[in-house]
Amino acid sequence: MTALVLTGSKAARGIAVGNARLLEGGDFEVPEYSVPSDQVSAEIDRYRQAVLDARITLKAMQDNIQGPLAHEVQEFLDAHLLMLEDATLAEGPLEFIRSRSINAEWALKMTREQLLDAFSAMEDDYFKARADDVNQVVGRIMGALVNKVTALDMDALTDRIVVAFELEPAQMGHMAERGCLGFISETGGPLSHAAIIARSLGLPYIAGIKGARQMINEGALLIVDGDRGFVLIQPDAERLSRYTEKQADLRRKANSLVRLRGLNCQSKDLIKVRLWANGEHEADLRLARQNGAVGVGLYRTEFLFLEHGKEPSEDQQYEDYRKAVLALEGLPLTMRTLDIGADKKLPLGQNPNEANPALGLRGIRLSLTLQDSFRTQLRAILRAAAHGPVRLLLPMLGQLSDVHRVKAMLAECQYDLESQGVVCGKNLLLGGMIEVPAAAIIAPQLARELDFLSIGTNDLTQYTLAVDRCNEELEDWYNPLHPAVLQLIAQTIDAGKACGKPVSLCGEMAGESRYTRLLLALGLQDFSMHPRVLLEVHEAISLCEIKKLERMKHEDILGLLAD
Ligand code: PEP
Ligand code: MG
Repeated sequence: MTALVLTGSKAARGIAVGNARLLEGGDFEVPEYSVPSDQVSAEIDRYRQAVLDARITLKAMQDNIQGPLAHEVQEFLDAHLLMLEDATLAEGPLEFIRSRSINAEWALKMTREQLLDAFSAMEDDYFKARADDVNQVVGRIMGALVNKVTALDMDALTDRIVVAFELEPAQMGHMAERGCLGFISETGGPLSHAAIIARSLGLPYIAGIKGARQMINEGALLIVDGDRGFVLIQPDAERLSRYTEKQADLRRKANSLVRLRGLNCQSKDLIKVRLWANGEHEADLRLARQNGAVGVGLYRTEFLFLEHGKEPSEDQQYEDYRKAVLALEGLPLTMRTLDIGADKKLPLGQNPNEANPALGLRGIRLSLTLQDSFRTQLRAILRAAAHGPVRLLLPMLGQLSDVHRVKAMLAECQYDLESQGVVCGKNLLLGGMIEVPAAAIIAPQLARELDFLSIGTNDLTQYTLAVDRCNEELEDWYNPLHPAVLQLIAQTIDAGKACGKPVSLCGEMAGESRYTRLLLALGLQDFSMHPRVLLEVHEAISLCEIKKLERMKHEDILGLLAD
């Protein structure tokens, strides 16, 4: 018998084999009726009480959160508490109850639809993903109104795969603690908070399978393939044994890699290679240290902005940056300045009608345009740098004059802080991302002007090949192994070597062990990747003879891997 295959979006990698555990909630089947005019004010009180109950539940959850993702979960809960206070949710339904004499559930449902329409009319994926938060908060108030628990009752989830209408990030850590192996949801996508949490938990997650809870029965045997973006329902014996084997292999491999913790990363011919981590959340930073990273090679500060939903103040930024610096206990933290724009948008002065946002006001161009915001960020970083080693990294660099402008602003911020008697870090190393072809072409000049370079192959591939990195239809064309991309990587590494400046690579390529040999052959000595894949790359390096690889001619390397 052939298994039923459901495809969705790849929100977190990995494989899980287990039985389905269906979660209730999210479908908003609510009673709709008119209320007599003399009961309108009682209905209003009932709604206010439900908001209060939802608030009490969220607060109680905040008090009980523990475990590795506690900090992140607290932030989600804070955001949900803020939403509960927002006039649209606090007052909007009251208006409907008054003006139409309808029950509170119906009024809330109408408000939710208004909000979701507003979100889905927004162009970019980030705001679309915020619709998840609206649904979760509305679900909570609705649960209080209809007196039904809309979320998970926390029974044992050992070896279960959670199938939800949508996943509440705040509950995912609990689910993992209770033995859940993976996630499927009807809504959401790779940019949702739930996806970020699933990746930090190391559990596979397929999002956006519409009607999943109709097609999957409670307890059905499932295979979740997060690497390929599908779910198999009731797989046949052959597939089941293949996947069980694959999963066991992955586990065995992960367990055996633990032996590398605490060992220096070096090749078979004893050449040292530096492995850095990419990470923003507390759990990533902890794992980076456990897995022996030499530091954090990419800390994407825009996540903080996106999670706040607006521009954080200097003190808020300082607090978060300081925590990250301290969490690394003396290892360097490479803080990339704000890279908002294109697929990571926040209304921070960009023109929402930009015809080509990927070619628009993003990365360092936006920072140099909104200089007050940039100064705020530089000041916060300089203050945090008083607590440990910090390197500053500039995104989307394309011209030398931008480096000069940043240097001047940095010096000015440092001078201001010191004149105000504020302690700040000194001699921050300044680096530039090489993620547009122009930067790779002028890498020799950039390398002379900067302290280090970091190659962002996710964007370098997009901009070299003119292929949108977010467009699933273009998967066959988005190829970091294209000879043109490899050529730019190679010349950037050579440019760094020529003037003794380190060059790292922090795009997804660095964390894929199938590319390790190739990157070593191109001369790369600094790799930066999610800490979860660090030991796999460490092992791949330990099996290579770098001297031999480096002797290969560039043409041979390109010929070997070109399609
Ligand atoms: C890159 O472009 O390779 C990179 C690391 O930056 P981001 O993925 O954040 O654009
Ligand atoms: Mg980039």
